Amino acid sequence: MAEKKLFCAEEKIAAIAEEYGTPFHLYDEAGMRAMARRLQAAFAWAPGFREHYAVKALPNPHILEVLHSEGLGADCSSMAELLLAEAVGMRGEEICFTSNDTPPEEFVKARELGAVINLDDITHVEFLEQTAGLPELLSFRFNPGAQRGGGNAIIGKPEEAKYGMTRAQIFQAAELAMSKGVRRFGLHTMIVSNELEADYLVGTATMMFELAVELKQRLGIAVEFINLGGGIGLAYRPEEAEIDIEAMGEGIHAEYRRIMEPAGLGQVRLAMESGRAMTGPYGVLVARAIHTKDTYRHYIGLDACMANLMRPALYGSYHHITVLGKQGQPADHVYDVVGSLCENNDKFAIGRELPEIVPGDLVVLHDTGAHGSAMGFNYNGKLRCQELLLTTDGSVRLIRRGETLADLFATLDYPGLPRE
Ligand SMILES: *Cc1c(COP(=O)(O)O)cnc(C)c1O
Repeated sequence: MAEKKLFCAEEKIAAIAEEYGTPFHLYDEAGMRAMARRLQAAFAWAPGFREHYAVKALPNPHILEVLHSEGLGADCSSMAELLLAEAVGMRGEEICFTSNDTPPEEFVKARELGAVINLDDITHVEFLEQTAGLPELLSFRFNPGAQRGGGNAIIGKPEEAKYGMTRAQIFQAAELAMSKGVRRFGLHTMIVSNELEADYLVGTATMMFELAVELKQRLGIAVEFINLGGGIGLAYRPEEAEIDIEAMGEGIHAEYRRIMEPAGLGQVRLAMESGRAMTGPYGVLVARAIHTKDTYRHYIGLDACMANLMRPALYGSYHHITVLGKQGQPADHVYDVVGSLCENNDKFAIGRELPEIVPGDLVVLHDTGAHGSAMGFNYNGKLRCQELLLTTDGSVRLIRRGETLADLFATLDYPGLPRE
């Protein structure tokens, strides 16, 4: 079976496991920095391009700090994410607040930070006015509804997604905001997810450029920026090809020249809100096999569970597995690799061909840098594990300690439970 490369030597991972204990997420600073530069280079042609890293993918301030130092801003959609962006020194329009079903206090905080507020619904124009006051700049999230298949098709079913406004509502919202004194405008959409074909992201840009032209023609509004959302996919499986970021940038450039420039919109800034692509491949979950079990199937039990990575259980997602020290051996065993939750979908892999695994082996789950630790939860009283950063100088830094039982019980005022 095809292998996937690890971002650091096996011996290094084994040494880290020895020092810190398992399980842990290990992140690669150099990989994240290189990706930040690569994405920005692909849009070097675009006036004032900015990537607002989607904080939800890996909401750790140490990671935000790394990405901020590469010139990235943040895309936030909750109070906690706004506070994380603020803590690392992000301010103003570096922060994009793309929320939905938004509580009033989050609009107030976003206004206080001077973040770009990206409204999910037409009713939010008045809701924002009443709760936090209208800013000078507003952005609107577009949902195009059902798309025709074939050709320039856009995958997914936007008409079934809860996000964004219809085309008619975008125009109504812009008129309403203008009548209330809003002077600066932006447009946003996010209609692809984990997409590996550059063409679909180019198609998103085409759709948004045409919308911007129509907004100018019908209402005389020249938007300041267009935010193309996230959606850049990962080659989770070894046989998948990575998305061609450079081709995506070039394809969007061609559409910009074809649609925007002739319409007098050649100064409009572009933005993206990638999350998964910025951190996903630059993280691994390292766990130890603690049990083998042979019943109707062959099981490998790890010391990690859904608390550390729930994507396989939630979406049936594939995460590649490397057994440390056994990369050269034939994958002649078929295992279900599981965690310890009393929940039968707590499985990292089902029917996976792997080399023989024995208790004590270190098992590496690839591509856990996005939506890994971030989605962790405490069902069954399981604890979220530590997060480690492999820095560019080769040293390892603990950037989040593992949860303790005292953390778990901290919200219970009850005698007899551990407090530390
Ligand atoms: C999740 C999300 C993103 C990031 O998407 P990726 O697929 O991780 O790139 C960007 N914008 C919004 C509004 C999101 O909800």
